[in-house]
Amino acid sequence: MKAIYSASQAKHDPSFFLLSGKQADNPEAPQRADTLLAAAISAGCEHIEPKDTGLSLISAVHTPEYIRFLKNIYHRWQHINNASLEVVPNIHPNRRDGSYPASEVGQAGYHMADTACPISSDTFNAVISSAHCAGTAAQLVLDGESVAYALCRPPGHHAFRDMAGGFCYLNNSAIAAQLLRSRYKRVAIVDVDLHHGNGTQDIFYARDDVFTASIHADPEVFYPFFWGSADERGKDAGFAYNLNVPLPKESGDDLFMAGLDHLLETVEMFSPEAIVVALGLDASVDDPFAGLSVTTDGFNRIAERIAQLGKPTVLVQEGGYLSDSLGKNLGSFLQGFEKKHRLKI
Ligand SMILES: [Zn+2]
Repeated sequence: MKAIYSASQAKHDPSFFLLSGKQADNPEAPQRADTLLAAAISAGCEHIEPKDTGLSLISAVHTPEYIRFLKNIYHRWQHINNASLEVVPNIHPNRRDGSYPASEVGQAGYHMADTACPISSDTFNAVISSAHCAGTAAQLVLDGESVAYALCRPPGHHAFRDMAGGFCYLNNSAIAAQLLRSRYKRVAIVDVDLHHGNGTQDIFYARDDVFTASIHADPEVFYPFFWGSADERGKDAGFAYNLNVPLPKESGDDLFMAGLDHLLETVEMFSPEAIVVALGLDASVDDPFAGLSVTTDGFNRIAERIAQLGKPTVLVQEGGYLSDSLGKNLGSFLQGFEKKHRLKI
């Protein structure tokens, strides 16, 4: 399997983070990618660089004003008297039925859901490169590979059409799904990250061509708090094309597998022709976010179960933070996937 990653993604190195109101180190650190790339290579992956898969693909998922904001806001922010080095919002439109703001501070609040996505001088290039990893992996699958792994860092599944959030700027899983749609009529996104894929859900919420499915720690007690409950099923043409399986905090392998079985049985009824896995590894028992308790062997079982769908698949890296088992968990997933993945024509 090919693993797609560019070193330019490591230049995004955010420092600001608020944890329960307290400033802390930002866990979405570049060392994550070093660990994940080394693990992918050890698991037998061939590392390749992403290709430029075009701004039009990104524009199919994100609004023009949001892309313009991501591109320009760092330089505009530097002209504010006494501003922070990184762009971090301090006010948000709690209702979004007003006007689009003109000022830097107003736009930062408009386009950023929380304070977890600082923007520095290297952020835009890194997030574009991360999106190209997803596009390149999807193109490889369109060109005949049965599976490809996009080492997307920064991650993407909390990014809405016009809003960053939870370490995410561009929605890489949505970008991969959108490109797969150029050939496949029905695509399913299976999100196994610890956190609900709220951005991905929102992007496809009214669509019946991309089924969005997420298994995650119950948002009653966990980020993203406002989305991810089981009664969110989609709207308009997309009604019944979204499925959430929230799990009690600290659920281990067996509860996760039972929830995943339910999730994938529903996904199979949609008859997807291709799959995007939003591959978060932060459900690990060792992850610093400590939400679920999946073991390294559990990631092998999760991979085998998804592989048994037998569809062309793009694996898109989402969360998963530095711990002793981060690399082992990716290796366990990739090996489990390759062991069981046989395309069903
Ligand atoms: Zn996560």
